[in-house]
Amino acid sequence: MKQKVLYIIMLWFTVVLTACDGDTVSDYLDIYPISDELALGMQLDSQIMANTQEYPILQNATANAYVRAIMDEILSSPKIKYLTQFNGYSIKIVNRDDIVNAFATPGGFIYVYSGLLKFVESKAELAAVLAHEIAHCERRHSTKAMTKQYGISLLTQLVLGSDPSAWESIAANLFTNGGMLYNSRENEYEADEYSFKYLQSTKYYAGAMIYFFNRCSSQSASKPSVFEQLLSTHPQDADRIAAVEKLIKNNNIAAPTEANLFSSDYATFKAKL
Ligand SMILES: [Zn+2]
Repeated sequence: MKQKVLYIIMLWFTVVLTACDGDTVSDYLDIYPISDELALGMQLDSQIMANTQEYPILQNATANAYVRAIMDEILSSPKIKYLTQFNGYSIKIVNRDDIVNAFATPGGFIYVYSGLLKFVESKAELAAVLAHEIAHCERRHSTKAMTKQYGISLLTQLVLGSDPSAWESIAANLFTNGGMLYNSRENEYEADEYSFKYLQSTKYYAGAMIYFFNRCSSQSASKPSVFEQLLSTHPQDADRIAAVEKLIKNNNIAAPTEANLFSSDYATFKAKL
């Protein structure tokens, strides 16, 4: 207990000291330990797992292994920093065909909806989405957003479990504008850029995100409810598409072919889902 109190005082003290600087959010992140980020993610994961109505997890060993193998390829990128600290990352499939989305919580917890797995048309396209979520974790985007919205003391309380009601206040608006899983446009650009960089060292076409964007654009108008969560947590616009196109153009990567898209392999997987 004494140690916990000391820790809170230390955090408070550091916040006061750094609050004089310009970029307070980065300063908060400097003092928010990466180990706490894993602890926070673990707690949030148990909240998510307990909500089986909203997040029913798909129990399908073949599907889990298929998605996990793609994750492992991305995570072998030399640009990944927190693989060990985040316990090797976790990936779960939320069994809801009515939602096209994926999301990440602090500490390397990634969730992908079965609706997204059925929506994408190649292994490279799915890899691009997963790499984008990994980038949100690696760049600590959720922690940054939570710090901004709730302050570091609430984050500390969540980790310490000292205030159970603290969870209630954030659980209610996880996916809403400004909530912890909402990503700013700036974070989206960054996650797209890192997704591209991670994929560059894999066998997948690094620009595959463009297929996802285009398919979303062409279908979201006719099925708004399916895309509602995706578009609220991952703001998408013409500039974002243009930014990925620019990355493709400037990085001189091999053209997309079946050898780097793996669409027929994916069609076989999808047929069994
Ligand atoms: Zn995103």
